[in-house]
Amino acid sequence: MPEIPGKACGPCYFCCKVLEIEEFKKTAGKLCEHCVGSGGCGVYDTRPQVCRDYHCDWKEDRGLSSQMRPDKVGALLMEDADSDEYHAVCDPEKPMAWRNPLVFRYLVDLAKDGQIVKAKAGLRAWRIYADGHWQECA
Ligand code: SF4
Ligand code: SF4
Repeated sequence: MPEIPGKACGPCYFCCKVLEIEEFKKTAGKLCEHCVGSGGCGVYDTRPQVCRDYHCDWKEDRGLSSQMRPDKVGALLMEDADSDEYHAVCDPEKPMAWRNPLVFRYLVDLAKDGQIVKAKAGLRAWRIYADGHWQECA
């Protein structure tokens, strides 16, 4: 898919930390061992297909502003492939980053549209509802 102008990952490597990658036995919230200090991938040419294919919603949605790049707001936005839920995935070191007003407003709007919306950080999860209230859940 051609890259949308202004939507380069740049210095962001948020997905290389917060997502689980079964190919590496990498747990959610643990920085990938191949991620180099500058944020680049140390095995870029041989990185697994799952890394080649992955694009967070910020990269694919023109409606998400430059301020919402995951490393800036501390939350990665994505449809969950294993369920019908929409997730804001955060770094366990900053688990409540999804409360960022930009992110939270977006999540509430999705809930108003009828989506099941959750924020995740490591093993913790919160459900966000259409009326703006939220609570920790399993
Ligand atoms: S979280 Fe999104 S913007 Fe950041 S590196 Fe991953 S795909 Fe790129
Ligand atoms: S292999 Fe590279 S692209 Fe994939 S998670 Fe690790 S650092 Fe990121």
